[in-house]
Amino acid sequence: MSTVPQAAQVATNTLGQGSAPRLVAALIGRPGRTQTVFVQCEPWCTEPHASEPEVAVEDITHYSDMAFMQVPTLLSEDTAHSELYCRVTSDPVSSDPRMRAAHVLYGDGSSMDAFLTPDMADELAHDLVAFAAEVRGMARVARAANEADAD
Ligand SMILES: [Zn+2]
Repeated sequence: MSTVPQAAQVATNTLGQGSAPRLVAALIGRPGRTQTVFVQCEPWCTEPHASEPEVAVEDITHYSDMAFMQVPTLLSEDTAHSELYCRVTSDPVSSDPRMRAAHVLYGDGSSMDAFLTPDMADELAHDLVAFAAEVRGMARVARAANEADAD
């Protein structure tokens, strides 16, 4: 009768692999007063629940790996102008059922993240592809203008 330890041995899943929740070890408590408990974790979650303590079980949030990009600026090669990131997340004890369900967090480093349903994330991805095509077209225009000026 050792279902919990067996479940705890399941390797960390990567995004898109598996579909069943699993039990994983989680470190809970205040500094110097932590204990390991087993919690249900999502198959896409890559959070190190066992090594990064939360004060209480209800503080545990599940996160996937992050898609991340920075926007550079020619005026500062050392610092990005801005950043964008997305990851799958769920808060299993949220009072909002939309936050309990798996959804996509979209952030830009500001104090407020956006939370997208899967359909909203698909629509955003569609818009980002169109945006990228426009940015690529602008790069062509700027390059051609600079080459014309160099002649
Ligand atoms: Zn998790």
